[in-house]
Amino acid sequence: MEDRLKDYYMSLGIDEKVYDYCSKVEEKLLSRFREIDKTAEKNQIKVIKAMQEARLAEHHLYGSTGYGYNDDGRDAVEKIYAAVFHTEDALVRQQIICGTHALTVALAGNLRPGDEILSVAGKVYDTLEGVIGVRKEKGSLAEYGITFQQVDLRPDGSWDYEGIRNAINAHTKIIEIQRSKGYDVRPTLSVAMIGDIITFVKSIKPDVICMVDNCYGEFVEEQEPSDVGADLVVGSLIKNPGGGLAPIGGYICGRKEYVEQAAYRLTTPGIGKEAGASLGVSRQFAQGLFLAPNVTASALKGAIFASNIYEGLGFKTVPDAKVERHDIIQAVEFGRPELVQAFCEGIQAAAPVDSFVTPEPWAMPGYDSEVIMAAGAFISGSSIELSADAPMKEPYAVYFQGGLTYPHAKFGIMMSLQKIVEKKLILW
Ligand SMILES: *Cc1c(COP(=O)(O)O)cnc(C)c1O
Repeated sequence: MEDRLKDYYMSLGIDEKVYDYCSKVEEKLLSRFREIDKTAEKNQIKVIKAMQEARLAEHHLYGSTGYGYNDDGRDAVEKIYAAVFHTEDALVRQQIICGTHALTVALAGNLRPGDEILSVAGKVYDTLEGVIGVRKEKGSLAEYGITFQQVDLRPDGSWDYEGIRNAINAHTKIIEIQRSKGYDVRPTLSVAMIGDIITFVKSIKPDVICMVDNCYGEFVEEQEPSDVGADLVVGSLIKNPGGGLAPIGGYICGRKEYVEQAAYRLTTPGIGKEAGASLGVSRQFAQGLFLAPNVTASALKGAIFASNIYEGLGFKTVPDAKVERHDIIQAVEFGRPELVQAFCEGIQAAAPVDSFVTPEPWAMPGYDSEVIMAAGAFISGSSIELSADAPMKEPYAVYFQGGLTYPHAKFGIMMSLQKIVEKKLILW
């Protein structure tokens, strides 16, 4: 059996030495993988329970057109999301075009001129800086008289309680808590840590809205931020909760009045959640959510496999090979552009789609250096599918994430190492 597996990999260009090293690393991870499977099992049952309680039925899987009034499938999916996240309500729509849009709708729907946003985990995600107006953009919230403050985490990654207490004022309306570190260097927040800060800020200002940017965190733990007091949790359907099947979309789950306010912003005052045709996408939303706990587990295993492979070769990985995970992003610091290029070539060469193309660095709008990206995804830009990107500048770190199945994530990492070995970029 084992030998035939090796033959398969070798037929795709993996050397025996790469295969043997990777197999040895993987063997040591099996007990950790078991823990991840246990979390996935609990989340899977949670999702099935939500579907059963919503009485999800075959007729929900067909879509509506036009205004989309009385779209039972869309409403059932939203009921299921609310049940999974244990919230009063949910807005789950393909008219939300990405994660940034979902966050924008949640913020703009709930803020009024004179209000202030406070980010308690430091810098917000790049695209949100434009939305808020930290970076000047047309139509930003700043243009509507909404202000922004941020308090950084302390150097050891803990909350700056005093700084947060001092920053909260009469105008503070929304506390923004970004769960995943994104492309920042700080650690990703655990759900427990998020619960801790929500309790703290509510003790100072009980009516403040705690909104969590949940991107890349869904189903990594048993609990979601909404289980520990978040008033709104927001994310993208082409990441974890879409399970690789959702072709577009975003979600906003939380307290009924805040979800409604967001809906009035997404559609119009007066219409809110009542309209918005699903165009048949409810099937992928529901089936994707059904698969999401297992898909997230696969991506997590891939991330842990990668950090162990590359840490074993002497590279710095973030998070490191041993620590507990709170999102699916893995960074590897290569220190040299050729290594970044080879890594990305390997990820691309292992893809099911566009495996024959070679990724090249390019000057992407909005970035201050060239960026290289590897992705061979069924859904364009989907980052729950195996993908990697890297700004071509110091410290030459690659960020990669996803993998709808663990074997694919594993193959991608093996192929990345294969390319590095072939180009003689490491002593081996
Ligand atoms: C992906 C992501 C977003 C939203 O990004 P989109 O590309 O607009 O979907 C926001 N915050 C974090 C932390 C993310 O990882």
